[in-house]
Amino acid sequence: MPVKISQSLMKALTDYNNVLNPNVDVSASSYHNCGLYFKAKYVDKIDMKEEPSAAMKEGIYFEYLCTGALPRDGSTPEPEKTLKGQLTTAYARAEQASQLFKKVISHYQIKILKTGYSLSTETMTGIMDIWAEWDGQPCIIDLKYSGLIDDKWNELGWNTDSLMHKHSLMIQGVHYKILVKDMLGLDVPFFYFVFNSKDSSDMKILEEVVDPEKFDKHREAVDDAIKLLGYLERTGFKAFPDYRYCKDCPLFATCDQRHDYPKIQKVYY
Ligand code: SF4
Repeated sequence: MPVKISQSLMKALTDYNNVLNPNVDVSASSYHNCGLYFKAKYVDKIDMKEEPSAAMKEGIYFEYLCTGALPRDGSTPEPEKTLKGQLTTAYARAEQASQLFKKVISHYQIKILKTGYSLSTETMTGIMDIWAEWDGQPCIIDLKYSGLIDDKWNELGWNTDSLMHKHSLMIQGVHYKILVKDMLGLDVPFFYFVFNSKDSSDMKILEEVVDPEKFDKHREAVDDAIKLLGYLERTGFKAFPDYRYCKDCPLFATCDQRHDYPKIQKVYY
């Protein structure tokens, strides 16, 4: 079955292609950039049962409290507790932030119609956190639980004024708006509800207003991604083995390209 393009696949493919490209000054910085890992995850769709980071676990728990969404493995997210059985500070914050979410939803009289709503076309796919009705109109709401709510320089930072330059964040709204347009024939607004994981009383609502040109560009980028994937499948995915990445890679046990020990690197002085 041909691979459909999700926004996470597109980002991973761009990162891998940048590492491959000798004209781009980027080097592999984790096993995520290794071609064998990319192929296993996105082409062969192997469930690698990767352990989420501590920040990701907090976000999963927050989203579960907001929408009831379960992680991919279907398990119910459990909060971390202290030895006395109380929620740790981070999980207490996530719980308070979910209460703020419920207050905001109630204040704006937003009706949640579906959560984890999956839409696919012949070439594209995506799962929306929340499909809702707001002021009588359907809309998409994406939840973010971030420690970078005001960060300007980090590419994953949500500083409002810099977002127009943050392609890897903004692509999501474009991707989902196209999916809804193509599958449901609707032009709907897309909102990010960004919660501050460091301050449970803090959040902001951002509506992504997309320049019409961006839709055509994104469709072209999806077509290019499909062509690139086809090319890579014919010519092979390149491994970037390095002891420091391989040791943490979920494919380590079975990978015949892995580096079991560090190689010696020269440094010049
Ligand atoms: S073990 Fe190393 S070479 Fe093999 S897939 Fe992982 S990062 Fe790539």
